[in-house]
Amino acid sequence: MEGRSILLVEDEVRIADTLRVGLTENGFEVDVAYDGRLGYKLFQSKPFNLIVLDINLPVYNGYELCKMIRATDMEVPVIMLTALSGLEDKIEGYDAGADDYVIKPFEFRELLMKIRVLLRRSGDKRTPVGNFLRAADLQMNLDTKEVSREGVSINLTAKEFQLLEYLLRNKNRVVSRADIAVNVWDIDFDTNTNIIDVYINYVRNKVDKPFEKKLIQTQVGMGYILKES
Ligand code: CA
Repeated sequence: MEGRSILLVEDEVRIADTLRVGLTENGFEVDVAYDGRLGYKLFQSKPFNLIVLDINLPVYNGYELCKMIRATDMEVPVIMLTALSGLEDKIEGYDAGADDYVIKPFEFRELLMKIRVLLRRSGDKRTPVGNFLRAADLQMNLDTKEVSREGVSINLTAKEFQLLEYLLRNKNRVVSRADIAVNVWDIDFDTNTNIIDVYINYVRNKVDKPFEKKLIQTQVGMGYILKES
């Protein structure tokens, strides 16, 4: 999975675990550190697409850690989690190189939205040429937005493309309608709406119907899964 790795540095275990579970459910790969030193070690050990930093941390605090990260990486997006909401604290954070803030207590969806905005922005700058998602004979080119199966090109609307991209990024995993609503439509849907099922049908008609192998499957009562085999 490309562009989805997050380093989370947060010493409050309950918050760290909640965020790790929520982010993992949304298709991110999450590494957690409970203090500033371990956070810095993890940062040095492999590349991350985004970093979420608490401010009050043992060993190095979030500002210090952010400065250390910025000494070698000016690009990676950094979001700070803070209980402090004063202007001085924000200025100190931005001076240290943070890109955005979330003030505790926050709603998970707010953090998720900020993560996605920052990743989209940095992805636009960093996405390498030939950035593909694949499942079986289905191929999606994220740069040119072309989709094909068995080499036959498939025309999707923007929304259908986003829906298929989300299914592909979570391939071989069941995603609920609520996951799809938040990630593809950016909102929570009234559970009575059937728009997701309607769009799943549009995508199936184009991506599955003309081909022998059906990739998108319904898991009754749970949601959908794009299955490779
Ligand atoms: Ca803390």
